[in-house]
Amino acid sequence: EKAELAKLVNEKSVSADGHQVELAANIGTPEDLESVLHNGAEAVGLYRTEFLYMGRTELPTEEEQFESYKKVLEGMEGKTVVVRTLDIGGDKNLPYLDLPEEMNPFLGFRAIRLCLEEQDIFRTQLRALLRASAYGNLKIMFPMIATIDEFREAKQILEEEKQKLVSEGISVAEQIETGIMVEIPSTAVMADLFAKEVDFFSIGTNDLIQYTMAADRMNERVSYLYQPYSPAILRLVKMVIDAAHKEGKWAGMCGEMAGDELAIPLLLGLGLDEFSMSATSVLRARAQIAKLSKQEMENLAKEALQMNNTADVLEAVKKITQ
Ligand code: PEP
Ligand code: MG
Repeated sequence: EKAELAKLVNEKSVSADGHQVELAANIGTPEDLESVLHNGAEAVGLYRTEFLYMGRTELPTEEEQFESYKKVLEGMEGKTVVVRTLDIGGDKNLPYLDLPEEMNPFLGFRAIRLCLEEQDIFRTQLRALLRASAYGNLKIMFPMIATIDEFREAKQILEEEKQKLVSEGISVAEQIETGIMVEIPSTAVMADLFAKEVDFFSIGTNDLIQYTMAADRMNERVSYLYQPYSPAILRLVKMVIDAAHKEGKWAGMCGEMAGDELAIPLLLGLGLDEFSMSATSVLRARAQIAKLSKQEMENLAKEALQMNNTADVLEAVKKITQ
């Protein structure tokens, strides 16, 4: 079976009825690239930059960051690399930042909230990214966006840093797509308006599920509520994808759900354009999609959206795919 899958390394990802999607990989460090290329991922759909900041005693310099981003962009040889700006806070703490303890860290001062407040940290990262953009196909993504104003502010800061670099004579890619993670329900609900301003969406289901169901993604006692296949989650996913397409933008997903064998048929049916997952899942997903009919999955998804609960959705998925 492994040999069969290996044949798909340089293939495109196409459904049985000819609908093409993109299968991308999630990475945490430049070292992960080897597996990305080995497993035939078509892009990096999520580069979690937190790891650059963790396990050390001070912030990484602009130069250190630039080197890492450049390495990834060059390594991907012109293929898309979606870099997520710093998503710290929640369960990921940086001791040297000396942030006050919070009652609800997952609902607190994290990710883009921290970056818009601590702008030195944010601007340093953006400069490193902009400089690296000359070496490949960079797209920038902001995490934990809850309001359109946050996106506008982040984009404004990015533009300011870009203008500064240009006036210093440093080369920066002319076009850099700028998108957001959709991992907060308010953003999914407002996706039609966001879609007029962002270049793309990437749905972060790990967080979107916990915020939608109000069930901590680490808490065993409430894990029964953490349901990727729940019609509530599928409806939010649909809203985001439809909103993107209406404005001619693309919608991806970089939460665990994107690589889940039972979710893939539903996501294909809902029209997801890009699936970003652990590199080791890419070939299996490509083989799976090749056997699925997009049109049939559209019907499956349509039915699932009208179901009352997760169990019914799962039963329908299993029936059609096995
Ligand atoms: C997500 O929330 O789905 C996501 C991809 O981000 P993280 O898992 O890093 O929070
Ligand atoms: Mg997240």
